[in-house]
Amino acid sequence: MPSIDAFADRLSGYLDNDQVNLVRRAYFYAEQAHDGQRRRSGEAYVTHPLAVANILADMHMDHQSLMAAMLHDVIEDTGIAKEALNTQFGETVAELVDGVSKLTQMNFETKAEAQAENFQKMAMAMARDIRVILVKLADRLHNMRTLEVLSGEKRRRIAKETLEIYAPIANRLGMHSMRVEFEDLGFKAMHPMRAERIRAAVRRARGNRKEIVNKIEESLTHCLTREGLEGEVLGREKHLYGIYQKMRGKRKAFNEIMDVYAFRIVVDKVDTCYRVLGAVHNLYKPLPGRFKDYIAIPKANGYQSLHTTLFGMHGVPIEIQIRTREMEEMANNGIAAHWLYKANEIDQPKGTHARARQWVKGVLEMQQRAGNSLEFIESVKIDLFPDEVYVFTPKGRIMELPKGSTAVDFAYAVHTDVGNTCIACRINRRLAPLSQALESGSTVEIVSAPGARPNPAWLNFVVTGKARTHIRHALKLQRRSESISLGERLLNKVLTGFNSHLDKLTHERVHAVLAEYRLEVIEDLLEDIGLGNRMAYVVARRLLASDGEQLPSAEGPLAIRGTEGLVLSYAKCCTPIPGDPIVGHLSAGKGMVVHLDNCRNIGEARHNPEKCIQLSWAKDVVGEFNVELRIELEHQRGLIALLAGSVNAADGNIEKISMDERDGRISVVQLVVSVHDRVHLARVIKKLRALKGVMRITRART
Ligand code: MN
Repeated sequence: MPSIDAFADRLSGYLDNDQVNLVRRAYFYAEQAHDGQRRRSGEAYVTHPLAVANILADMHMDHQSLMAAMLHDVIEDTGIAKEALNTQFGETVAELVDGVSKLTQMNFETKAEAQAENFQKMAMAMARDIRVILVKLADRLHNMRTLEVLSGEKRRRIAKETLEIYAPIANRLGMHSMRVEFEDLGFKAMHPMRAERIRAAVRRARGNRKEIVNKIEESLTHCLTREGLEGEVLGREKHLYGIYQKMRGKRKAFNEIMDVYAFRIVVDKVDTCYRVLGAVHNLYKPLPGRFKDYIAIPKANGYQSLHTTLFGMHGVPIEIQIRTREMEEMANNGIAAHWLYKANEIDQPKGTHARARQWVKGVLEMQQRAGNSLEFIESVKIDLFPDEVYVFTPKGRIMELPKGSTAVDFAYAVHTDVGNTCIACRINRRLAPLSQALESGSTVEIVSAPGARPNPAWLNFVVTGKARTHIRHALKLQRRSESISLGERLLNKVLTGFNSHLDKLTHERVHAVLAEYRLEVIEDLLEDIGLGNRMAYVVARRLLASDGEQLPSAEGPLAIRGTEGLVLSYAKCCTPIPGDPIVGHLSAGKGMVVHLDNCRNIGEARHNPEKCIQLSWAKDVVGEFNVELRIELEHQRGLIALLAGSVNAADGNIEKISMDERDGRISVVQLVVSVHDRVHLARVIKKLRALKGVMRITRART
């Protein structure tokens, strides 16, 4: 471990004297604060913050980040207050240290909920000052490098968390070198045996490959010289965890992965990249469809490079990346390259910082929309793995979406309103299902209709956090308005029985009851009733201040219109259809479930006005209702075709059909048909009865 003097020497390479002295001061402050504390390894505690600062200095981070690195455990471990740091080192450094401390207090343990909250904290911290996360990442990197001293269980927990959270964040911020180190260290700690086996295999393969690698390298270098192009040819190897993931995820054999030869050519400027590409395509035949221009269209995390695959001598596949020195720095350090360039006063690679900021902004927006932290973490986790497809709007604008995205994701990426009102899509001018995964290069056009609403089924296939969050949000709003309107009808129905109505109640009375229930507005109360959390009967009596003696006069049942939406559903046990006598059963949080009046599942609750409510069907009820029929008939050829023909002749729709043979002669067919109402059902049954060999038709009840 280098001393503070050696460290200060290093810093003077890119910081001025005053700044170096501030970093020194922070070091001595930390040394004193941690006096007497030791790391698990037995070393003085201050070696840890110094090492963290060293990692950040590798990325040429500014003096404030380095000071924060020195002090990052002071608040947490020594009880020195943030205010003290504020007076000593200024507000910015104190805020950075405070930010890192808050992230340190994160408690990942086991519960997903806790994990989600930590993610939120991390996003908030990043939004305030992205340097917080860089110090935190460096802190974690040093802890990972010194992981061996910990006990097995703790080691695995930290390793798992590193793989699941820190490595993806480093990746999202474009910090390739850090991500690779996180992954390899994490992998070794989680699966020491597997890591060792792969490492040994790589070492063996390296020996066998050496000759071919040298030959390819030579011919590439020779080719560049011949064309008068300057560039450095470097051999590449996949990192252990990368190999492991390929073996697992893509089910490739180790040899298959190692049979690919990978090189990088680093050049001076962008123009040269394309000329080198031309030269190597001339040298070996390129594999069609494998060329990718990440220079013109950078990845979401700012990564830029040309990728191509060639057929080398004897047909060995050669993967080549071509990029400039700046792009190389970007690829390795990502967002941290921002400081690297500021310090060197070379042109900064534009956009990386802006891109990272934009991502963080997006994360925060999602957080505000998400109903709870679990929804949020789900969204963020998806966004942390940026494997993109690129598609075009009809006007030719490029949209970048995660792999597997559908037209609905696309619609939400264009605009929230477009997503919320989309009803269909055209992919390359042809109508396509909204659920179809998009492919790079497609042109996607969204058909939307004013007043259309998101479909809950979309949640089964959307990929982006944005789409998911907005769909959930819209459904929540829809559910709320539908609950309120059902709640209002339920409440008014009971009030009418008491010869009253919501409009007839005094403002004071309503507010007194709201206060009693600790609710803000009447809509909250109605929503609660509609969702089944509160009983209309009980609320009505509170509103009327009735003492319980008085019973409501026999009022008519509540009419079901079929347009109640998400808060009303039809019981699967008895499948009621319009015309059937029905009751509504209220269950907390789910709203109302409509059952047949004599459904066995309702039982005694039928007579409890707090659980059940008499319903009727409105005259103009809308919708299609499924009903299950059980048909016993003599076995005959083409039986299903006959049944289908009859149902069809009566304008019914078959939703499902299954058949059991009872004995050689008699078959029992279960038929789910959708009908408008009882009259329609009767017509269907009549047609079926007319079939030859039909013995018995009953409505199935479970
Ligand atoms: Mn630390």
